This record gives sequence, structure tokens and C-alpha cells, in this order.
Amino acid sequence: MDVAALSDLRGAKRLVIKIGSALLVRKGAPRRKWLRALVEEIAALRSGGVEIIIVSSGAIALGAARLGLPKGGRARLSDAQAAASVGQVELARLWSEALGDHGITAAQMLVTLGDLEDRRRYLNAAATLARLVDGGTVPVVNENDSVATEEIRFGDNDRLAARVAQAARADAVLLLSDVDGLYDRDPREDGAQLVSRVEGVGPEIIAMASETSSSGMGSGGMLAKLQAARIAERAGIVLAIVDGRDKRPLTRAFETGIGTLFLPRRNDGARKAWLGGRIAPLGLLVADAGCARALAEGASLLAAGLTEVEGDFARGDLVAIQGPKGERLGQGLVEYSAAECRAILGLREKEQAAKLGYAPRAAVVHRDHMVRE
Ligand code: GLU
Repeated sequence: MDVAALSDLRGAKRLVIKIGSALLVRKGAPRRKWLRALVEEIAALRSGGVEIIIVSSGAIALGAARLGLPKGGRARLSDAQAAASVGQVELARLWSEALGDHGITAAQMLVTLGDLEDRRRYLNAAATLARLVDGGTVPVVNENDSVATEEIRFGDNDRLAARVAQAARADAVLLLSDVDGLYDRDPREDGAQLVSRVEGVGPEIIAMASETSSSGMGSGGMLAKLQAARIAERAGIVLAIVDGRDKRPLTRAFETGIGTLFLPRRNDGARKAWLGGRIAPLGLLVADAGCARALAEGASLLAAGLTEVEGDFARGDLVAIQGPKGERLGQGLVEYSAAECRAILGLREKEQAAKLGYAPRAAVVHRDHMVRE
């Protein structure tokens, strides 16, 4: 999809819209009027031929109020899990009623990080999403916070939205936030400028993210939004951050063009995009300078160029790959366990067989199973 301005998103075939807790919930109560107005805009987009998938936060905020939990239910994990259980029922009802008023059927889908990290489960979730959208429903997706634990959760719905967009083969993601978009420095500082277009989220863009951009109710913040943009951009998906606080936020964004538009950098094939968007590597491989150069030219990662192995992983797990100066080079599926990697680190092919006791594989991470930065 060719996108030059926010208004072009009206022409998306499939659009994921993420709504944060701070927009949907105020003082523990749902903002029904705002939601009704938003759903009116969603219904209009759908009439214009855009298929919509919603990623909605708000379960923890709603449930915490109902249970009277401190810190919006985020004081401890067990509170958040309980709050999500209670709040998700209400959240689903809100969406189903609001969409129902326009004759649209809502479909709830709760996913965990693991559901999207594991290839088989990811394809399963993708098939369900496709079926729901083809069936004319609007899926309303959230993280299954009741069973997610600290180590294995998204924790923010921004990255979840980008992953869902990938799984659903959407062409665009709209993150409705409580800020206008990405500013080149802390927006409270004098002279801070809204960045309206980003082509590739590099280190200079990441440096602009300030933790102060989080409203405190959700857990996203700007950094999570930039991570979401990185997941989207390598899958060929456009992502935009726009201010959701307006009464009619989509119309405002499309008409004024105010927001930040992240243009896709490349379109990795579906499998590589999934691999690149995975969030939880189990280990780290450090490569020497020669190896880093070879990787940049598209080679596989060989044991001879390995200098360090961190973490505990099995063959087939996801590992991150780093260069000698700590720079991130990419990630991929490893051909050996952590113990085997340590045994053959720095060795050439001929020396590896003696260490391993069997014929070595072609690479430690094969280029077909690797995504470079
Ligand atoms: N999934 C959480 C909820 O529904 C919110 C995560 C976030 O803050 O982005 O409350």
C-alpha cells in the first residue's frame, strides 16, 4: 500500500486500530460517549471498504476499579491478572454493544506472547483472525493478561497491535494515543517538534522516546510504540501514532494530518517478518568484526566467528545476534543448543566434529532462519 499522508489510511484494505486504556477508561469508568463516537467512525470506514481489527486495552483499568485495587491494578502481577479477568468481561461487553449498535458483530480474541512467538500457534491465530474478518466481524483483541506472567507477556498493547497486524496481513496500524505522535525531544521542553514522518526506526529515532510520554494508566509509552513501529516496518506495514483524545479522533487525524507516520522499510516474506517481529530471544550470540561484516552481506553465522554465548537455549530457539561493540545485528533460529554453541565457539568446521562427536551443521544460525537489523 502506498501511503504519503495519514489520510491515505482511509484506503487501507485491512486496518488495525489500537486503543489505549487512558482513552477508554477514566477514573475506573468506561468513556461510553467517546467510544460511541469512535465506533461511528469505524463503521464509516468499514462502509468505505476497510476491514477493521481492534486491539483494545482497558481490562486492567476497568477491573481494578471494580475490585478496588491500588495503583490501577498494577501494584503487583497477581492484582493485574485478577483485574484483567474482571475487566475483560466488561470490556468485551462495551465493544460488543457499541459495534452492535451499527449492526457489526464483535469477536473477542485474547492472546499471549507465546501464542504469537511460536510459529505453529501464530499461524493458528492468524487463521482465526482471517476467518473472523472474512466472516464480517470486527475482532477485538487484547493480551490474555489473566494468564500472562512477567517474563512472558507483551505488557503493552502497542507491540501486540503490530504483531496482530502482521498475523492478520493488515496494511496499516493506527495507534490511538494520548499524545500527538513522536516528538524530537520531551514534548514538555521548549521547541519540541512533532516528527510527522519516519522512514526506518534507527537509534536516533529511539533516542527521541521519552518515558514521560506514558499517561501512567497504560503501560505503553513511546518506546513501546517505536518497538511496534519496528515490527511493522519490516513486515511492510504502515504504522501511525495519532492523538486519540479528540471526540472524533480518526476524522481529526485524516483531516489535519497531525500525527507520526512510520513508513515501511522493507517487506520481508511472511515467515521472516514473523521471525523479525519475535520479541523474546532466549539467548545471545556475540560475533567478531569479520563475522559481523559477513552477516551484513547476507552470510550465515558460523561458529568460527563466534566470541561469546549467553543464555540457555535449545536447538531451534530464537537467539539475538550482536556485534563486537554490542551493536544489535539481528536475530534468528539457532541450529545448536547453548552448550553445543559454547563447545564449538571460535572453531572452524573441521575442528567442530571432534568436539561435537558428530558432523557439524552448515551454520550456527543459517541465513534462511535469520533476520538482520
Ligand atoms: N492489556 C492491558 C489491558 O487490557 C493493557 C496493556 C497496555 O497498557 O497497553 O488492560
